[in-house]
Amino acid sequence: MIRILAIDDNKDNLIVLQALLSDAFPGSAILSVQSGAEGIQIAKRENPDVILLDLVMPVMDGFETCRRLKEDDILKRIPVIILTAAKTDTSNRIKALKIGAEAFLGKPIDESELTAQVSSMVRIKKSEDSVRMENLRLEQVVKERTNDLLQQLEERQRAEKELKRSFADLELSKLATLNLLDDLKAEMDQRHQAEKELILAKEKAEASDRLKTAFMNNISHEVRTPLNGILGFGDLITSPDITEEEKTFYLEILNASSDRLLKTINDYMDISLIVSGNIEVRPSVFAVEDLLHRISGSFVSLAKSKGLEIRINQDDGRASELESDPELIGKILINLLDNAVKYSQKGAIEIGYQEDSGVIRFFIRDEGIGISSDKQAQIFEYFMQEDLSHTRKYEGSGLGLSISKGLVDLLGGRIWVESAKGEGSTFWFTIPGFNKSIN
Ligand code: ADP
Repeated sequence: MIRILAIDDNKDNLIVLQALLSDAFPGSAILSVQSGAEGIQIAKRENPDVILLDLVMPVMDGFETCRRLKEDDILKRIPVIILTAAKTDTSNRIKALKIGAEAFLGKPIDESELTAQVSSMVRIKKSEDSVRMENLRLEQVVKERTNDLLQQLEERQRAEKELKRSFADLELSKLATLNLLDDLKAEMDQRHQAEKELILAKEKAEASDRLKTAFMNNISHEVRTPLNGILGFGDLITSPDITEEEKTFYLEILNASSDRLLKTINDYMDISLIVSGNIEVRPSVFAVEDLLHRISGSFVSLAKSKGLEIRINQDDGRASELESDPELIGKILINLLDNAVKYSQKGAIEIGYQEDSGVIRFFIRDEGIGISSDKQAQIFEYFMQEDLSHTRKYEGSGLGLSISKGLVDLLGGRIWVESAKGEGSTFWFTIPGFNKSIN
């Protein structure tokens, strides 16, 4: 519904206007007042869609009324059509326009012009109102959205704080877990270590059990045989009716039996020290050639008695020094040389060494009976002999090579044999600690 406010001090004019407007806008509400002040009041209360304002009025003329209307924030939106008698009065029109009036209608009022002016003002007002309403709605929407966003932002900041706190908690628990893992790992390592030690102890116990059995078997043969020789020939030698020749022969047997018994007992002592880990390594710097000469020298007469020759073979003719334990290396060489003499009936025995990147490689080569390839690994085990029968041809405790291997292991080296049955053998062992060559 259209609401029109007409302000004119002349009652007749108002009646005419009312009539015209009712005709032109049936169903509209037409409010009419006779003074500017009253008009402003009604406009505030009723919020009309358009105001028709007479210019010439007592007390507050149309200009003043229009000015006050346009000064008010709400009223200024209502379009004002100035009713002026002098249609051609340009200066009044300009003044009214400057104050803010929207349109003019000359008196006497033309109905169609009135209808057109009012319709267009109402249209403008309505569209302005709807734009304003839309603006307000949008403002409201923006406000609500902004509030929403602010709320979301606050929530997000809160959540972020929460997240940071839980992240810090997480870091702490991660650290605690890592510490726990470290502890667990250390405990597991300890357990593994203890397990390994247990296994090792069990293996040692089993090995020593096996050793004990082998020892018992061996002792009966290797101790009793020479002991019988000593006791038997010891008795015979005291007999009064033996010849000098017989006496010498018995003495030789007595000596040989004593040597054999002594060697066996020494082997038992050595192997028991190796197995119990009681051998001490005493390293010193020594000349390798001196050691070779000393050891081979002690075998010369024995070798000669069997028609064997012992030769010393050096790598490049230069004397070399080694930093290791000469006593233990001497024992290894003695065992190997002893075997070379024992298991050879002919030819030469060569004893020597080669140098190879900080390691010295000793060898003892013979032209004796040789060892079949399937026995070459076993002969380094305790009490192992190529021929295990009681009727075997060669005496021995079966400990020489296992003692040598134990000592080589202790000195950080390796021992092995190259041999073929009937074609002699070469025993090799390495010793680290090669020092330098001296001229
Ligand atoms: P044994 O006291 O029987 O000589 P070893 O431990 O010294 O014990 O040697 C183990 C076995 O290895 C010997 O019984 C022998 O069968 C074999 N053997 C060792 N050295 C030689 C060698 N130079 N020539 C042939 N056989 C050897």
